Amino acid sequence: MQEVKKPRKPLIYYYVIVLIVLLVFNFLLMPWAAERQVREVSYDTFMQMTEEKDIGRVDINQEDNEIVFTNKEEDQIYKTGMVSDPDLTQRLYDSGAVFSGQIIEQASPILTFLLSWILPILIFVGIGQYMSRKLMNKASGGPDSMIFGMGKSSAKVYVKSSEGIKFSDVAGEDEAKENLAEIVDYLHNPSKYREIGASMPKGILLVGPPGTGKTMLAKAVAGESNVPFFSMSGSEFVEMFVGMGASKVRDLFRQAKEKAPCIVFIDEIDAIGQKRDGRVGGNDEREQTLNQLLTEMDGFETNNGVIILAATNRPESLDPALTRPGRFDRRVPVELPDLKGREEILKVHAKKVKLAENVDFSVIARMASGASGAELANIVNEAALRAVRENRSYVTQADLEESIEVVIAGYQKKNAILTDQEKKVVAYHEIGHALVAAKQSNSAPVQKITIVPRTSGALGYTMQVDEGNHYLMSREELENKIATLTGGRAAEELVFHSASTGASNDIEQATKLARAMITRYGMSEDFDMVAMETVTNQYLGGDTSLSCSAETQAEIDRQVVELVKRQHKKADKILEENRDKLDELADYLYQRETITGEEFMKILNA
Ligand code: ADP
Repeated sequence: MQEVKKPRKPLIYYYVIVLIVLLVFNFLLMPWAAERQVREVSYDTFMQMTEEKDIGRVDINQEDNEIVFTNKEEDQIYKTGMVSDPDLTQRLYDSGAVFSGQIIEQASPILTFLLSWILPILIFVGIGQYMSRKLMNKASGGPDSMIFGMGKSSAKVYVKSSEGIKFSDVAGEDEAKENLAEIVDYLHNPSKYREIGASMPKGILLVGPPGTGKTMLAKAVAGESNVPFFSMSGSEFVEMFVGMGASKVRDLFRQAKEKAPCIVFIDEIDAIGQKRDGRVGGNDEREQTLNQLLTEMDGFETNNGVIILAATNRPESLDPALTRPGRFDRRVPVELPDLKGREEILKVHAKKVKLAENVDFSVIARMASGASGAELANIVNEAALRAVRENRSYVTQADLEESIEVVIAGYQKKNAILTDQEKKVVAYHEIGHALVAAKQSNSAPVQKITIVPRTSGALGYTMQVDEGNHYLMSREELENKIATLTGGRAAEELVFHSASTGASNDIEQATKLARAMITRYGMSEDFDMVAMETVTNQYLGGDTSLSCSAETQAEIDRQVVELVKRQHKKADKILEENRDKLDELADYLYQRETITGEEFMKILNA
């Protein structure tokens, strides 16, 4: 889509005008004025001019002790000091000079004054006026227009254009698209809805984790329905001055109503839509802006063709007044894509790059479990960059697989030198994870194991792959997952009889899972179905807050430790029972550095 901007003269244009004015002033006006001014000469010159009868008028100024005179043509004024000279008057008289007073006044000090003081001021005031009028015009003046366009919404306006984003560009997200297709239909044919008495929602809230295509969906709605699209971020409303945000909201809605039917998109609406919690020293500006938004949304009748779309990652922090029916009546979840969605997104983005024939997107989609649309777009781009680096003219399967790892774990570290012993420990650690995972029937199989250090700091990793989509996890599956996470450390202990720092990330994850099982999933004997923790930030990392007594907290901690310990023991047992396979696989990995899931299973089942 094209952003429409009023043509604006570049700043250099104004500089050039100022420069020209200054040049004219300095080189033409000033010399002309200076010429008209008094020139100081010696008494000799004065005498000589008198003798040559080249004196026009003369004024002997006794008070200032000076003689002011002009030449015969009277186009230059001269000045000289007074010398005691009794014959002077007679000689002047003989030379035909005319005695007159106030010669200098005739050289017009007023003109000088005008030229050197008033004119420049007038010029600059003029330029100032002109520029401020320009800026005011740009801000498209209205009743609440402020100096230099403060308080004007800076919404970017996109109009319909042939290359606008369409629903087909947004892969996956079928539910969201279906929901929004209705809006498109309404914007195409509002009378159909009006006749039956149905009213369109005024506002639609798109919620979901970052990078899942919320902005894209909003643009696609505008692209499909061929209406103007106003886009603004929530933070753009918040200004330094109290009241500016509210003024911007007013202006945005005024513009939108003029252009109706149209779509107004407010990204990151939580920047202004946060709960008004009445804290002392709260954010006045934000609250005023929010109030204005609420008022505006109430203020326009339904079915007038203005549809407001807003996006946020933090729906739980929004003010309830904003999310009530009549304002944002609809909430459209835009979740992380599932396996099929990932494959489609990859395909959409892969259209832009040249591909080798053997590329299998289902494998890539499977490997990139949990990736958002933006990450998948990034994976395709990284793969293309890698192809260029390797002087190939097309992207291969290997490029895509490597770029997943780049996005997950960072680039391969070029000069990380592990000692032989370290490399062995890492190999055992990774095989420990993989072996425990493979031996527990419910665990997902291993896709790839590598001990090439990455820039993220990982010395190696085991990529596990879900065969399909998983929506529910049973207690056994979760326990197995914890056991798998402890498998790395278990292998180190079993073989080297010592622990290393390499397991810190595993420990963190295992603890998180175990804690969630006990406090949120009701999977402990003692607490039954009581929630001890609530998630406060669903789409951004999933922070939790505890809500229980100190004694219960202590009990939770005890149970978490116990749960992890039990799974650790289980992992120990599995590895002990398969010690020969562990050695064989670790040695194989140590030699090869990277092995695939197939190779792993072949050795395991041999
Ligand atoms: P959000 O607003 O949800 O944070 P965006 O809509 O800005 O995310 O998406 C960022 C980028 O990610 C898009 O420009 C696009 O390239 C890619 N993307 C995200 N989701 C999808 C999708 N469902 N289909 C295709 N591309 C997507």
